[in-house]
Amino acid sequence: MKSNNHMLTYSETINDIPLACADETAAVEFFEKQRWGETSLCVHCGSTGVYKMTDRKTGDRNKRFLWRCTDCKQQFTVRLGTV
Ligand SMILES: [Zn+2]
Repeated sequence: MKSNNHMLTYSETINDIPLACADETAAVEFFEKQRWGETSLCVHCGSTGVYKMTDRKTGDRNKRFLWRCTDCKQQFTVRLGTV
């Protein structure tokens, strides 16, 4: 019984995670384009001096899709507005 439970958990995990990640990245970038077009703005101060935070190891976008403002130094996302 114990080994059956383990197998079930494992297969659910590998099936769900890659799809969820791909969908979320596409969704976030869609919302960013809808809201900002080509020029992203800081939600705190309205500055255009913002950049996408990236994972230092992989160079991919931060898992929480954070942006950072070089003027007010605050972080934000397109969906939450503030962190
Ligand atoms: Zn700012």
